[in-house]
Amino acid sequence: MKQTRVIHVRLGEKCVCCQDVRTEGLRIFDSFICLKCEEGIVDVESNEEPYEHFITALRGITPSVNEN
Ligand SMILES: [Zn+2]
Repeated sequence: MKQTRVIHVRLGEKCVCCQDVRTEGLRIFDSFICLKCEEGIVDVESNEEPYEHFITALRGITPSVNEN
């Protein structure tokens, strides 16, 4: 029987925040936030601009229903 598989090659993922393709970062639902942006979000107290940008980017994230 023929079986079709989807293979995810992890060469990196596109960050929803800065559009960079990176291997290190955080996955939220089906979206990806790179390590650089993640650190920027954590550091919101000293710099609010990346946070605003992050919130804008998050609006494009559609929550996935297949939660583990
Ligand atoms: Zn990023």
